[in-house]
Amino acid sequence: MNYLIAGFGPAGAHAATAIREADPQARIRVFSADPHPFYFRASLPWYVLDRISSDDLWAVPKGHWEALRVEHIPRPLISIDPGGQTVTDSEGLEYRWDRLLLACGLSPARLGCPGENAGQVVGFGTLEDAVRVRELCQQGGRAVITGGGVRALSLAWVARRMGVDVTLLVPEAGLGAPWLDAAGSHQLFRRLADDGVEVRLGERVTSVESQGGRVAAVGTDRGKGIACRWVGVGVDGPPQLALAGSAGLAAGPRFGSSGGELQVDGRLQTGAPGIFAAGDGCAVIHDGHRLTCGGWQAAATQGRVAGINMAGGDAVYEACRHYHAATLYDLPMTLIGAWDAEGDAEVTTNPRAEGFRRLVFRDGALIGAVLLGDRRHANVLRRAVEMGVKVRGHELQMLRTDVDLNRLLRPSGEYHLY
Ligand SMILES: Cc1cc2nc3c(=O)[nH]c(=O)nc-3n(C[C@H](O)[C@H](O)[C@H](O)COP(=O)(O)OP(=O)(O)OC[C@H]3O[C@@H](n4cnc5c(N)ncnc54)[C@H](O)[C@@H]3O)c2cc1C
Repeated sequence: MNYLIAGFGPAGAHAATAIREADPQARIRVFSADPHPFYFRASLPWYVLDRISSDDLWAVPKGHWEALRVEHIPRPLISIDPGGQTVTDSEGLEYRWDRLLLACGLSPARLGCPGENAGQVVGFGTLEDAVRVRELCQQGGRAVITGGGVRALSLAWVARRMGVDVTLLVPEAGLGAPWLDAAGSHQLFRRLADDGVEVRLGERVTSVESQGGRVAAVGTDRGKGIACRWVGVGVDGPPQLALAGSAGLAAGPRFGSSGGELQVDGRLQTGAPGIFAAGDGCAVIHDGHRLTCGGWQAAATQGRVAGINMAGGDAVYEACRHYHAATLYDLPMTLIGAWDAEGDAEVTTNPRAEGFRRLVFRDGALIGAVLLGDRRHANVLRRAVEMGVKVRGHELQMLRTDVDLNRLLRPSGEYHLY
């Protein structure tokens, strides 16, 4: 069998590994738009700060992909012919496939305003971006960073560590959208303010002004000019859908600030025979629930499920398996299960408490959770979601990190959650 994978992030890498495990004879080729094989994007902040070397970014030991006989072709795919089962890469070369995985992640973000192509306007998604961010931070002064999610907050954190003054312009009404509600966003806001970041909610960059070939200021939709030396584009770009579009695969509806995602079923299959999709930019529709699937762990797990199914197996990505651990500025955030689903009960921590937790229940079972500032019990809650443990009557206690959940939930069954 001939397997092609578009994208060498966690989704593509884990799919390749799962295919090789199931099919020792397979020919597996992985394409990418950037020149490097699979690396840890979440470690880029540490790389900028020089706390790790580029060797520590590679996710696998040297020679790993060669040993697995996974071929890396560092060129993007441009189009798919679903009937002829071929793809074309950026040099016009054509490749045949029996199974194809789309795992292209999100597009590079753009400001979409005059002056956005200035040399001191930088994104934060690739190793090349990280090198540039380090150079800009070393020049000191003020940076304006746009966005309120993982990318923007990582960039703001790095810039502060390097002594840069930071103004964060967040297009949404709160930080950490859509994961955090007003109480969670407020906690994060306080943390950034304490660290000296100026946060402006509901404000966007509308122009980048340069003087003498260097960025000097930005204009915003509140009519204000902010003097700065560089601009960090920390908003997520829309899902990469051009390739899927060439095969006639349309995106689903928009969700929050993201563009429409490519919808797949629980087996990670698209509407076109033999074509699967996984990772950022996908939405899994399973058991009537629509799960937006951002994040490293989700992409890796989905890649694995897709790889198993591409090789003839039968695996399902269910909402209860969803797990996303990220850092928002320097606060750990964890999303578990169907964190964005409508439940029939919900509990949240007191807004004055340290840290933020929101737990969602349906039919007496925990179905999803959002944790900010403290990851204690995250694995226990994850197990409770996966096992469908009945917890009725204990909802409020489950918010606490100082109770023994094994002991608490034992009367409702012989569960061992640790
Ligand atoms: C600074 C930073 C910090 C982060 N921190 C966290 C964190 O703490 N926790 C967390 O869960 N997530 C974090 N993330 C997000 C995480 O990295 C992504 O969710 C994850 O990488 C998505 O994986 P993916 O496989 O879907 O896509 P990606 O990792 O984005 O990979 C996409 C791949 O597709 C390739 N590609 C694009 N277009 C084409 C094409 N046309 N043809 C072929 N290949 C193509 C790209 O070159 C790339 O190899 C962070 C991201 C950044 C940038």
